[in-house]
Amino acid sequence: GFKVGIVGLPNVGKSTLFNALTKTAAAQAANFPFCTIEPNVGEVAVPDARLDRLAGIAKSKQIIPARMTFVDIAGLVKGASKGEGLGNQFLANIREVDAIAHVLRCFEDDDVTHVEGRVDPVEDAETIETELMLADLESIEKRLQNIVRKVRGGDKEAVQQERLMKEAKAMLEEGKPARLVDVDAEDSKAWKGLQLLTTKPVLYVCNVDEGEAATGNALSDKVAAMAAEQGAGHVVISAKIEEEISQLDPDEAQMFLEELGLQEAGLDRLIRAGYDLLGLETYFTVGPKEARAWTIRRGTMAPQAAGVIHGDFERGFIRAETIAYDDFVSLGGEQAAKDAGKMRVEGKGYEVKDGDVLHFLFNA
Ligand code: GDP
Repeated sequence: GFKVGIVGLPNVGKSTLFNALTKTAAAQAANFPFCTIEPNVGEVAVPDARLDRLAGIAKSKQIIPARMTFVDIAGLVKGASKGEGLGNQFLANIREVDAIAHVLRCFEDDDVTHVEGRVDPVEDAETIETELMLADLESIEKRLQNIVRKVRGGDKEAVQQERLMKEAKAMLEEGKPARLVDVDAEDSKAWKGLQLLTTKPVLYVCNVDEGEAATGNALSDKVAAMAAEQGAGHVVISAKIEEEISQLDPDEAQMFLEELGLQEAGLDRLIRAGYDLLGLETYFTVGPKEARAWTIRRGTMAPQAAGVIHGDFERGFIRAETIAYDDFVSLGGEQAAKDAGKMRVEGKGYEVKDGDVLHFLFNA
């Protein structure tokens, strides 16, 4: 599954947010056979109203949403790249995630100490980014040394890695994250293989006070501007509200949200923003037994999409029967869509579309 790491300076609201994410009634209700929750790792259900709609039409007994994993990565302080705080352990944790949700303190509260003694989310973001850039630089310098012999020996892979590492290094030395390097398609696999921290996509999470959740505030506006400049995502959330909501059942939660002038829980927006950031899409399998959402990267071909369900589906892939979500819903189900000629038969070269309702045929 896809993993998002929650990072941020101490006392910005990371734990509050993480607890809300994993304790939420929806996350609890959506039982999943492989759902192991460690103290700092939680799986959450990806909210998707389409899934409920499909399940209603097909009268599915069970609804199984897509899942996303959040990891609470505590311990980042100034100097982490030099081993301060939890230092290296922290950095190793970040290496394993697909994207970074960076929580920024956008609330004033004299009772909550700020490590730098002032509230400035843009500077906080820079503090963390600097640590990540320093860590990348250090690891690149080490690896460049280790690779010298292979490069001299003419090892093609090593030559490519060296070239890419030098490009990353030049960007980092300008004080910019490696994600700003333009990478050609033929280099993209090797580039990912470098596992640099500053190539991970970033989503800024502005943690504001309860009263400002619907509107944001001057601090979150500054973060929004920064995010736009960097091509990063951003959401405004009140971790405290989310914590309260996570204790309520869905009806109570809805009433509470309305009182606050909010359309939906911030967590839902956060999860969806994570989805967008990662370029993820959803397809569905729908039947009387269960309606289920599956996660793929945008641009995934039918056999690989089938492989998300089971490796055998990919290996033995024959074809996919496809109904677009809108057709399934507007016509009132699978049979009706079939009768209307809206079920398509697609082969190996089919790129799955967001919202497709799929059946796979395969050789066992
Ligand atoms: P972490 O160190 O980043 O994990 O931060 P915590 O989640 O432990 O939060 C640090 C403190 O800030 C706790 O006392 C929280 O109750 C408080 N806090 C978190 N979010 C908010 C907020 O939006 N407003 C206010 N006033 N306090 C908050």
